[in-house]
Amino acid sequence: MLEQPYVYEARALVEPDWRRLPGFADVTDEQWRSAQWQRVNCVKNLRQLRGVYGDLLDETFYADVEADQAGRATMSLLLPPQMLNTMVPHEVPSTATMLADPVRRYMLPVASDRLSGAAASHPYAARDSLHEHEMWAVEGLTHRYPTKVLAELLSTCPQYCGHCTRMDLVGNSTPAVPKLKFELKPVDRQGQMLDYLRATPGVRDVVVSGGDVANLPFKNLEAFVAGLLEIESVRDIRLATKALMGMPQHWLQDDVVEGMTRLATTAQARGVSLAIHTHVNAAQSVTPLVAEAAQTMLAVGVRDVRNQGVLLKGVNDSAAELLDLCFALLDGAGITPYYFYMCDMIPSAEHWRVSLAQAQTLQHDIMGYLPGFATPRIVCDVPYVGKRWVHQVAEYDRERGISYWTKNYRTGIEAGDEAALDRRYTYYDPISTLPASGQRWWAERDSDPVAAEVRAASSRAASVADLEV
Ligand code: SF4
Repeated sequence: MLEQPYVYEARALVEPDWRRLPGFADVTDEQWRSAQWQRVNCVKNLRQLRGVYGDLLDETFYADVEADQAGRATMSLLLPPQMLNTMVPHEVPSTATMLADPVRRYMLPVASDRLSGAAASHPYAARDSLHEHEMWAVEGLTHRYPTKVLAELLSTCPQYCGHCTRMDLVGNSTPAVPKLKFELKPVDRQGQMLDYLRATPGVRDVVVSGGDVANLPFKNLEAFVAGLLEIESVRDIRLATKALMGMPQHWLQDDVVEGMTRLATTAQARGVSLAIHTHVNAAQSVTPLVAEAAQTMLAVGVRDVRNQGVLLKGVNDSAAELLDLCFALLDGAGITPYYFYMCDMIPSAEHWRVSLAQAQTLQHDIMGYLPGFATPRIVCDVPYVGKRWVHQVAEYDRERGISYWTKNYRTGIEAGDEAALDRRYTYYDPISTLPASGQRWWAERDSDPVAAEVRAASSRAASVADLEV
């Protein structure tokens, strides 16, 4: 057999045995399959975390979690049992194996993961790093691309990811990040979104997101999607839910399956493509329950279930980890690998981010193993631009880690901006990945780390007034 850099092996999915965790030792199969049981038993604080792991983890680990929550964490803790069970999946966890675990590294961050001091955040990190709020056509509806919009229906999820791009709005406030709040009532916000889409026939594609649509009462989600299906110009609808992986039990509930059947049947009758987009970052998260939820959605007529992961250092930053994940999704669950986003430039995320050069290498190294339609593109979400494939960079100063990008469309806020299509837009590598000369250049700049943090915290000038004091 030819020797290859990556060796493909078909692997059967296995549900890790939750009974290896002291807090779940007596949990029955029936309880585990219940979405309600999963929601009630989510870990939201240190006391509940101890309740699951007890003495398996040292006090140092709990102190590390506590220090992160009190310090730099941009997201509060919210971990469904299903998600916890995929950390150190096939052995009894210890402090060392938990610290090294890829799922733990982004879902249960600890203070010792982060870079210390000012290095924790890039000087140009910002709360709303993609400026989505500035591009709201109506509250919660980001109109960034010519033909597609993002509808943020709610600001909560069944699980909170440490690196969440929408950390400005999503989840509960943490000591480091007081969250913004929607002002309109959900029903009014959704009504305004539908009105805008009825009046804007150039938009054909709606990403229905949040947060996570799994946290909407299903009848509310169904009413909104049914409203979209009545708009002739809407041809693509994608429901964004990490819960398909984090709490697959939600998507297996009878009322959800019945409701999705109704929506998929209407979508098919109207020639609209209704898809689910999920967010899986590590192969070990793809379990038989995740596969069952995905296959159930496909069986009721959802056109496709696709994965948009995030490229994260220490989680999936090798070609083998990315390919293992893609094959687990594709072979095991029928989920199509679609995108890997580079981690956005939010505060305190430098330990998760990789350089553009590394992302380009990874894109190169994963080509040729998967079918073309399931070979994910690694993309950089460039502020004020949008997703660009990592090889589309116009110019790249590797020494200082500054990449320059161009675009071929105007965002919703650039109607009168003549120069929008001629301008170059920047993205920055983590400073710790630069050569010594590049790191020196940044250190010698007139950059005051405190001022940088203030800038990051107030980057959404328009929304600062909305912050709860
Ligand atoms: S599921 Fe998505 S929106 Fe929710 S915390 Fe994770 S990344 Fe953010």
